[in-house]
Amino acid sequence: MITRFAPSPTGPLHLGHAYSAMLAYDMAMAENGMFLLRIEDIDQTRARSKWEAQIYDDLHWLGLRWPTPIMRQSDRLDSYRSAIDRLWHDGQLYACHCTRADIAAATAAPQEGGPTLGPDGVIYPGTCRPADINRNHSQHSAPTDAALRLDISMVARNFDDTSALSFTETGARQNRSTAVIDFTLADLARTTGDIVLARRDVGTSYHLSVVVDDAAQGVTHVVRGEDLYDATKIHVLLQHLLGLSSPTYHHHRLIRDDNGKRLAKRDDARALSAYRAEGATPADIRRLVGL
Ligand code: GLU
Repeated sequence: MITRFAPSPTGPLHLGHAYSAMLAYDMAMAENGMFLLRIEDIDQTRARSKWEAQIYDDLHWLGLRWPTPIMRQSDRLDSYRSAIDRLWHDGQLYACHCTRADIAAATAAPQEGGPTLGPDGVIYPGTCRPADINRNHSQHSAPTDAALRLDISMVARNFDDTSALSFTETGARQNRSTAVIDFTLADLARTTGDIVLARRDVGTSYHLSVVVDDAAQGVTHVVRGEDLYDATKIHVLLQHLLGLSSPTYHHHRLIRDDNGKRLAKRDDARALSAYRAEGATPADIRRLVGL
Protein backbone atom coordinates (compact mmCIF):
# COMPACT_ATOMS: atom_id res chain seq x y z
CA MET A 1 0.00 0.00 0.00
CA ILE A 2 1.28 3.46 -0.91
CA THR A 3 -0.49 6.45 0.64
CA ARG A 4 0.36 10.13 0.51
CA PHE A 5 -0.29 13.44 2.19
CA ALA A 6 -0.35 16.33 -0.27
CA PRO A 7 -0.57 19.70 1.46
CA SER A 8 -0.38 23.09 -0.22
CA PRO A 9 2.18 25.31 1.55
CA THR A 10 -0.17 28.27 1.78
CA GLY A 11 -0.67 28.42 5.54
CA PRO A 12 -0.09 26.54 8.79
CA LEU A 13 -1.20 22.93 9.16
CA HIS A 14 -4.17 22.57 11.50
CA LEU A 15 -5.74 19.62 13.28
CA GLY A 16 -7.57 18.55 10.12
CA HIS A 17 -4.29 18.22 8.25
CA ALA A 18 -2.72 16.37 11.16
CA TYR A 19 -5.59 13.89 11.12
CA SER A 20 -5.31 13.36 7.36
CA ALA A 21 -1.53 12.91 7.45
CA MET A 22 -1.55 10.57 10.47
CA LEU A 23 -4.38 8.47 9.04
CA ALA A 24 -2.57 8.08 5.71
CA TYR A 25 0.62 7.22 7.60
CA ASP A 26 -1.07 4.71 9.93
CA MET A 27 -2.85 2.99 7.04
CA ALA A 28 0.40 2.53 5.13
CA MET A 29 2.35 1.36 8.19
CA ALA A 30 -0.36 -1.15 9.13
CA GLU A 31 0.22 -2.84 5.76
CA ASN A 32 4.02 -2.51 5.77
CA GLY A 33 3.52 -0.01 2.99
CA MET A 34 4.91 3.41 2.20
CA PHE A 35 3.79 6.90 3.14
CA LEU A 36 4.74 9.74 0.77
CA LEU A 37 4.70 13.48 1.20
CA ARG A 38 4.00 15.69 -1.81
CA ILE A 39 4.09 19.48 -1.82
CA GLU A 40 1.25 20.92 -3.92
CA ASP A 41 2.70 24.30 -4.77
CA ILE A 42 1.44 25.02 -8.28
CA ASP A 43 -0.12 28.25 -7.04
CA GLN A 44 3.13 30.18 -6.73
CA THR A 45 1.27 33.35 -5.80
CA ARG A 46 0.19 31.73 -2.53
CA ALA A 47 2.89 29.12 -1.80
CA ARG A 48 5.56 30.23 0.69
CA SER A 49 8.79 28.44 1.63
CA LYS A 50 8.21 29.28 5.29
CA TRP A 51 4.98 27.25 5.22
CA GLU A 52 6.75 24.39 3.47
CA ALA A 53 9.43 24.35 6.18
CA GLN A 54 6.74 24.43 8.86
CA ILE A 55 4.98 21.45 7.22
CA TYR A 56 8.16 19.34 7.43
CA ASP A 57 8.73 20.41 11.00
CA ASP A 58 5.16 19.73 12.18
CA LEU A 59 4.95 16.33 10.46
CA HIS A 60 8.31 15.25 11.86
CA TRP A 61 7.18 16.33 15.30
CA LEU A 62 4.06 14.16 14.88
CA GLY A 63 6.40 11.22 14.28
CA LEU A 64 5.81 10.79 10.55
CA ARG A 65 8.66 9.79 8.23
CA TRP A 66 8.75 9.71 4.44
CA PRO A 67 11.23 9.00 1.66
CA THR A 68 13.14 11.85 0.06
CA PRO A 69 13.47 13.59 -2.33
CA ILE A 70 9.96 14.89 -1.95
CA MET A 71 7.85 15.48 -5.03
CA ARG A 72 7.03 19.17 -5.48
CA GLN A 73 4.45 20.12 -8.06
CA SER A 74 6.37 23.24 -9.09
CA ASP A 75 9.06 20.86 -10.47
CA ARG A 76 6.55 18.91 -12.54
CA LEU A 77 5.16 21.43 -15.01
CA ASP A 78 6.52 19.45 -18.00
CA SER A 79 4.59 16.35 -16.96
CA TYR A 80 1.38 18.36 -16.64
CA ARG A 81 2.04 19.93 -20.03
CA SER A 82 2.34 16.48 -21.65
CA ALA A 83 -0.98 15.42 -20.15
CA ILE A 84 -2.62 18.65 -21.32
CA ASP A 85 -1.18 18.22 -24.81
CA ARG A 86 -2.54 14.71 -24.98
CA LEU A 87 -6.05 15.82 -24.03
CA TRP A 88 -5.79 18.75 -26.43
CA HIS A 89 -4.74 16.53 -29.32
CA ASP A 90 -7.62 14.22 -28.54
CA GLY A 91 -9.94 17.23 -28.98
CA GLN A 92 -11.17 17.10 -25.39
CA LEU A 93 -10.21 20.64 -24.38
CA TYR A 94 -11.05 24.10 -25.60
CA ALA A 95 -9.52 27.51 -24.94
CA CYS A 96 -11.49 29.86 -22.71
CA HIS A 97 -10.84 33.59 -22.46
CA CYS A 98 -13.64 34.40 -20.00
CA THR A 99 -12.85 36.44 -16.91
CA ARG A 100 -14.56 35.77 -13.59
CA ALA A 101 -16.72 38.82 -14.29
CA ASP A 102 -17.77 37.41 -17.69
CA ILE A 103 -18.82 34.15 -16.04
CA ALA A 104 -20.65 35.94 -13.24
CA ALA A 105 -22.53 38.07 -15.79
CA ALA A 106 -23.42 35.04 -17.94
CA THR A 107 -24.72 33.05 -14.97
CA ALA A 108 -26.59 35.84 -13.21
CA ALA A 109 -30.17 34.75 -13.83
CA PRO A 110 -32.01 35.67 -10.61
CA GLN A 111 -35.27 34.16 -11.82
CA GLU A 112 -33.55 30.78 -11.82
CA GLY A 113 -32.29 31.13 -8.28
CA GLY A 114 -28.72 32.11 -9.14
CA PRO A 115 -25.84 30.13 -10.60
CA THR A 116 -25.46 26.40 -10.00
CA LEU A 117 -22.38 25.38 -8.05
CA GLY A 118 -20.07 22.46 -8.79
CA PRO A 119 -16.89 21.28 -7.05
CA ASP A 120 -14.98 24.20 -8.61
CA GLY A 121 -17.58 26.89 -7.90
CA VAL A 122 -19.99 28.30 -10.47
CA ILE A 123 -20.70 25.87 -13.30
CA TYR A 124 -19.29 27.34 -16.48
CA PRO A 125 -22.08 28.45 -18.84
CA GLY A 126 -20.16 27.32 -21.94
CA THR A 127 -19.58 30.77 -23.48
CA CYS A 128 -16.28 29.77 -25.20
CA ARG A 129 -17.24 26.16 -26.01
CA PRO A 130 -16.82 25.72 -29.78
CA ALA A 131 -19.91 24.59 -31.62
CA ASP A 132 -17.92 22.31 -33.90
CA ILE A 133 -17.97 18.92 -32.26
CA ASN A 134 -15.57 17.40 -34.79
CA ARG A 135 -12.66 19.62 -33.86
CA ASN A 136 -9.28 18.22 -34.67
CA HIS A 137 -6.35 19.68 -32.79
CA SER A 138 -3.77 17.21 -33.97
CA GLN A 139 -1.78 19.81 -35.93
CA HIS A 140 -1.43 22.31 -33.10
CA SER A 141 -0.10 22.29 -29.59
CA ALA A 142 -2.33 23.49 -26.80
CA PRO A 143 -2.42 27.28 -26.49
CA THR A 144 -0.82 28.82 -23.40
CA ASP A 145 -2.47 32.22 -23.55
CA ALA A 146 -5.88 30.99 -22.39
CA ALA A 147 -7.43 28.70 -19.79
CA LEU A 148 -8.16 25.22 -21.16
CA ARG A 149 -11.46 23.63 -20.24
CA LEU A 150 -12.52 20.01 -20.49
CA ASP A 151 -15.47 19.73 -22.86
CA ILE A 152 -17.27 17.38 -20.57
CA SER A 153 -20.56 17.06 -22.42
CA MET A 154 -18.64 16.15 -25.58
CA VAL A 155 -16.58 13.62 -23.63
CA ALA A 156 -19.85 12.20 -22.28
CA ARG A 157 -21.33 11.98 -25.78
CA ASN A 158 -18.25 10.28 -27.23
CA PHE A 159 -17.71 7.95 -24.34
CA ASP A 160 -17.42 4.56 -25.99
CA ASP A 161 -18.42 2.56 -22.96
CA THR A 162 -22.07 2.79 -21.98
CA SER A 163 -21.41 1.44 -18.52
CA ALA A 164 -20.74 4.01 -15.81
CA LEU A 165 -17.32 4.90 -14.51
CA SER A 166 -16.60 3.82 -10.98
CA PHE A 167 -14.12 3.97 -8.14
CA THR A 168 -13.51 2.03 -4.96
CA GLU A 169 -14.16 3.94 -1.75
CA THR A 170 -13.32 2.76 1.77
CA GLY A 171 -13.86 5.94 3.79
CA ALA A 172 -16.30 7.53 6.20
CA ARG A 173 -19.45 7.28 4.06
CA GLN A 174 -18.98 3.52 3.83
CA ASN A 175 -18.31 3.23 7.53
CA ARG A 176 -14.89 1.98 6.48
CA SER A 177 -16.22 -0.94 4.51
CA THR A 178 -15.48 -1.11 0.79
CA ALA A 179 -17.96 0.18 -1.76
CA VAL A 180 -17.83 0.62 -5.50
CA ILE A 181 -19.19 4.06 -6.42
CA ASP A 182 -20.67 4.24 -9.93
CA PHE A 183 -21.40 7.45 -11.75
CA THR A 184 -22.38 8.39 -15.26
CA LEU A 185 -20.69 11.00 -17.40
CA ALA A 186 -24.04 12.61 -18.07
CA ASP A 187 -24.38 13.21 -14.32
CA LEU A 188 -20.87 14.52 -14.11
CA ALA A 189 -21.50 16.91 -17.03
CA ARG A 190 -24.54 18.27 -15.17
CA THR A 191 -22.89 18.61 -11.76
CA THR A 192 -19.44 19.92 -12.68
CA GLY A 193 -19.68 21.51 -16.12
CA ASP A 194 -16.59 22.28 -18.18
CA ILE A 195 -13.89 22.61 -15.54
CA VAL A 196 -10.57 24.34 -16.13
CA LEU A 197 -7.73 21.80 -16.46
CA ALA A 198 -5.00 24.32 -17.31
CA ARG A 199 -5.14 27.79 -15.83
CA ARG A 200 -3.73 30.50 -18.04
CA ASP A 201 -1.08 31.59 -15.54
CA VAL A 202 0.13 28.14 -14.39
CA GLY A 203 -0.68 25.79 -17.28
CA THR A 204 -2.22 23.20 -15.00
CA SER A 205 -4.84 22.86 -12.26
CA TYR A 206 -5.34 21.02 -9.01
CA HIS A 207 -7.40 18.29 -10.72
CA LEU A 208 -4.92 17.56 -13.49
CA SER A 209 -1.81 17.70 -11.29
CA VAL A 210 -3.20 15.47 -8.58
CA VAL A 211 -4.16 12.77 -11.08
CA VAL A 212 -0.83 12.88 -12.92
CA ASP A 213 1.14 12.82 -9.67
CA ASP A 214 -0.80 10.09 -7.87
CA ALA A 215 -0.16 7.91 -10.92
CA ALA A 216 3.52 8.92 -11.20
CA GLN A 217 4.10 8.08 -7.54
CA GLY A 218 2.24 4.78 -7.71
CA VAL A 219 -0.16 5.85 -4.96
CA THR A 220 -2.53 2.94 -4.32
CA HIS A 221 -4.73 4.58 -1.64
CA VAL A 222 -5.66 8.26 -1.73
CA VAL A 223 -6.50 9.28 1.84
CA ARG A 224 -8.01 12.77 2.09
CA GLY A 225 -10.94 14.76 3.49
CA GLU A 226 -14.55 14.26 2.53
CA ASP A 227 -14.59 17.73 1.01
CA LEU A 228 -12.83 16.20 -2.02
CA TYR A 229 -15.32 13.35 -2.47
CA ASP A 230 -17.14 14.98 -5.41
CA ALA A 231 -13.88 15.97 -7.10
CA THR A 232 -12.99 12.27 -7.20
CA LYS A 233 -15.39 11.74 -10.12
CA ILE A 234 -13.41 14.30 -12.12
CA HIS A 235 -10.18 12.55 -11.15
CA VAL A 236 -11.48 9.14 -12.19
CA LEU A 237 -12.61 10.54 -15.55
CA LEU A 238 -9.16 12.09 -16.08
CA GLN A 239 -7.48 8.79 -15.22
CA HIS A 240 -9.68 7.17 -17.83
CA LEU A 241 -8.87 9.78 -20.50
CA LEU A 242 -5.14 9.64 -19.76
CA GLY A 243 -4.96 5.84 -19.63
CA LEU A 244 -4.00 5.75 -15.94
CA SER A 245 -5.29 3.25 -13.42
CA SER A 246 -7.41 4.52 -10.52
CA PRO A 247 -6.25 4.19 -6.93
CA THR A 248 -8.61 3.26 -4.11
CA TYR A 249 -10.06 6.31 -2.34
CA HIS A 250 -10.52 6.79 1.37
CA HIS A 251 -12.34 10.05 2.16
CA HIS A 252 -12.25 10.66 5.88
CA ARG A 253 -14.49 12.72 8.14
CA LEU A 254 -13.58 16.38 8.53
CA ILE A 255 -12.31 17.75 11.81
CA ARG A 256 -14.62 20.57 12.90
CA ASP A 257 -14.32 23.36 15.44
CA ASP A 258 -16.59 23.67 18.50
CA ASN A 259 -19.29 25.29 16.35
CA GLY A 260 -19.25 22.46 13.83
CA LYS A 261 -17.47 24.58 11.24
CA ARG A 262 -14.80 22.95 9.09
CA LEU A 263 -11.29 24.05 10.00
CA ALA A 264 -9.55 26.22 7.44
CA LYS A 265 -5.94 27.28 7.14
CA ARG A 266 -6.77 30.79 8.33
CA ASP A 267 -8.00 29.46 11.70
CA ASP A 268 -4.61 30.09 13.24
CA ALA A 269 -5.89 29.29 16.71
CA ARG A 270 -6.12 25.65 15.65
CA ALA A 271 -2.72 25.57 13.97
CA LEU A 272 -0.67 22.60 15.03
CA SER A 273 2.12 25.01 15.95
CA ALA A 274 -0.21 26.70 18.46
CA TYR A 275 -0.85 23.35 20.20
CA ARG A 276 2.88 22.66 20.16
CA ALA A 277 3.63 26.06 21.69
CA GLU A 278 1.16 25.26 24.48
CA GLY A 279 3.06 22.07 25.27
CA ALA A 280 0.79 19.48 23.62
CA THR A 281 2.40 16.14 22.74
CA PRO A 282 1.85 14.16 19.53
CA ALA A 283 -0.24 11.76 21.64
CA ASP A 284 -2.46 14.70 22.67
CA ILE A 285 -2.97 15.56 19.00
CA ARG A 286 -3.90 11.97 18.22
CA ARG A 287 -6.44 12.02 21.02
CA LEU A 288 -7.85 15.37 19.91
CA VAL A 289 -8.59 14.10 16.39
CA GLY A 290 -9.85 10.72 17.57
CA LEU A 291 -7.01 8.50 16.40
N1 GLU B 1 -3.42 19.85 -1.92
C1 GLU B 1 -4.77 19.61 -1.53
C2 GLU B 1 -5.09 20.41 -0.29
O1 GLU B 1 -4.18 20.89 0.39
C3 GLU B 1 -5.05 18.15 -1.24
C4 GLU B 1 -5.14 17.35 -2.46
C5 GLU B 1 -5.58 15.89 -2.31
O2 GLU B 1 -5.39 15.31 -1.23
O3 GLU B 1 -6.04 15.35 -3.29
O4 GLU B 1 -6.25 20.58 0.01
